[in-house]
Amino acid sequence: MTLLELTDVTASYGPVRVLEGVSLTVPDGGAVGILGANGAGKTTTLRAISGTVRTAGRITFDGRDIRGLRPDRVAALGIAHVPEGRGTLAQLTVLDNLRVGAYLRKDRKAVAADLDYCLTLFPQLKKRLTSNGAALSGGEQQMLAVARAFMARPRLLLLDEASLGLAPSTAKTVYDAIGRLRRESGIAMVVVEQNANLAFTLVDTATVLETGRNVLTGPASELKGLDEIRRAYLGG
Ligand code: ATP
Repeated sequence: MTLLELTDVTASYGPVRVLEGVSLTVPDGGAVGILGANGAGKTTTLRAISGTVRTAGRITFDGRDIRGLRPDRVAALGIAHVPEGRGTLAQLTVLDNLRVGAYLRKDRKAVAADLDYCLTLFPQLKKRLTSNGAALSGGEQQMLAVARAFMARPRLLLLDEASLGLAPSTAKTVYDAIGRLRRESGIAMVVVEQNANLAFTLVDTATVLETGRNVLTGPASELKGLDEIRRAYLGG
């Protein structure tokens, strides 16, 4: 079943149009990558989904038209956005960040169980529960951002450059945990990533954007083998 579908979506910041007709299909439980150079429109595509940029075209989630909904309404439908720069709350402790993630949920037992799960997924966070967000390393902040988004128990996770600024080994740790989360929770994902090698460890299919348009879409296994992808995104 299709969970999220973008059809010919355009988006603008004021008078400047930056998406020129983007399409994307995310099956329930699937993971789709968005690749592309700086400024291609990857972040804006995530913002189009979460309702934080003005759009035209068609965006459906679980069969329902969500284009133009306010960001809080989109979140309440089960879409969690982990923005570039992570968006963790610097003045709150790790534990409170995780509680904020679950603030719409009523079932305390399930929330407590998910909290335990997050801490098995990211054991580093367990040692830092009472630290403020601001005191965490970049890798820990990224782990917290993902864990906090999970605490909302979304059906779809939007991940923007989860590897940005991290040492390669830390980026791999973060992606390994996200992969485990995907397998164990079945949460669908849209993954924006400059590091295509990492993205390909997680996604089933991917699309390449260039100046706000899809230029190539297909299974990760096929894209990985293409010369133009290797040259542009896989370092050779
Ligand atoms: P990056 O990896 O650099 O974030 P990206 O593929 O995610 O690149 P976007 O951030 O979606 O690209 O940006 C697409 C275009 O929109 C770029 O030309 C960028 O300069 C422009 N843009 C992004 N945010 C804004 C904004 N708030 N106001 C005006 N223009 C913007």
